[in-house]
Amino acid sequence: MEKDVLILGGGPGGLSTALHLQKIAPHLANRILILEKEHYPRHKLCAGGLVEDAEVILEKLGLDVSEVPHVDVEQIHFDFEGNGIRFRVPGKQAMRVVRRNEFDAWLAEKTRELGIEIREGVTVKSVIPDNEGVTIETNQGDFRAQMVVGADGSNGITRRCILSNEPVSTARVLEVITPTQPSPKSNGFWGGREGVAYFEFWPVPDNIAGYVWDFPTQLNGEPMRCWGIYDTNVLADHSRPALKEPLAQEMNQHGFELDNYEIKGYPIRWYTPWNTASVPRVLLVGDSVGADPLFGEGISIALGYGLVAAREISESFRRNEFSFNGYRRRLARSALGQALFARWVITHIVYTMKWKWFQIFIWRICKSLVLFGARVFVLNWGKRLR
Ligand SMILES: Cc1cc2nc3c(=O)[nH]c(=O)nc-3n(C[C@H](O)[C@H](O)[C@H](O)COP(=O)(O)OP(=O)(O)OC[C@H]3O[C@@H](n4cnc5c(N)ncnc54)[C@H](O)[C@@H]3O)c2cc1C
Repeated sequence: MEKDVLILGGGPGGLSTALHLQKIAPHLANRILILEKEHYPRHKLCAGGLVEDAEVILEKLGLDVSEVPHVDVEQIHFDFEGNGIRFRVPGKQAMRVVRRNEFDAWLAEKTRELGIEIREGVTVKSVIPDNEGVTIETNQGDFRAQMVVGADGSNGITRRCILSNEPVSTARVLEVITPTQPSPKSNGFWGGREGVAYFEFWPVPDNIAGYVWDFPTQLNGEPMRCWGIYDTNVLADHSRPALKEPLAQEMNQHGFELDNYEIKGYPIRWYTPWNTASVPRVLLVGDSVGADPLFGEGISIALGYGLVAAREISESFRRNEFSFNGYRRRLARSALGQALFARWVITHIVYTMKWKWFQIFIWRICKSLVLFGARVFVLNWGKRLR
């Protein structure tokens, strides 16, 4: 089977690339094929926190994410030992929380409505670029394309095939879904966490370079909580507790027993300025290049990669030249690249300066400065992305 553009992976990175390509270069729409190994609605381990940048990018595509079942978060707490920054967005929710099976299936449907073909149940086994194009071996036979977009996530095969020797920076992440209330027998303090998402940084001095989270969510319309722990691994050289211990401790404080719930883990590959983003005829988007190192936020980021990649692809077809030499540079200069760079710098400050006094200083004393920095350097890049 021969196509011009093969997109490997139908998550937000791959689907956004297709949607933006359809917008920028509509003549390419029927020459794109997305290969997805699962069937929608497919499970994806993710807390589903959607920040405003994701909504802005989707709005520019004419898509309204409020169509997807979601929970509105009115306020986000960034705390050290229960005390810290309160983040709100005037006049609207601070964040929406979606389930990824529902969000990705919705986005795939929107993509199909624009005439882009998605084949489900096709697992890519290898990606072999040559001077004339790319051969993709799958469980459904071989495919051939002029170029390929690797959008197959943190553990993707595309990156492993084309950049097998490049070092990777990967975070460890665990996630648990619980009911909204602890068992009445528990001693934990619950008290009004509805509509609030929590990021708690007390594990940092114990060399967990990240945070414990607790988000409101829903499962089939039923209100639930999503808990988890994120560790960038930047303190991996130091001695650390088992990753589930701080999560268990935090949940316990609120009356939940971690061992009563199913715990799931998945890595997040994160962005560094050195991550290679392409080789001739193959470019990467989303987690295959790298998510946000600071929080492991990757949905808005993957949607943003889609726009930058689509511009690159459209230009390549115009010039009939597929080296993608300038892709990493253009990515770095884009509003997305600037936000990722800022987050990478902040990661190496906030998590390596791990002392308790410093964490109290950032989260409790420098609140206004941190909020200002977050609004200017970390968030609000979606509006500037062109
Ligand atoms: C526990 C956890 C919690 C998270 N919470 C948040 C959050 O709250 N907010 C946020 O913004 N981000 C969060 N993230 C990060 C976010 O999930 C990712 O950054 C985001 O999904 C990246 O999108 P992507 O399209 O690059 O990759 P993915 O979403 O991983 O999509 C890749 C797609 O490729 C397909 N695929 C993989 N291999 C193959 C193959 N060989 N052949 C064909 N198809 C293939 C997969 O089935 C999948 O559909 C979280 C991640 C984890 C692990």
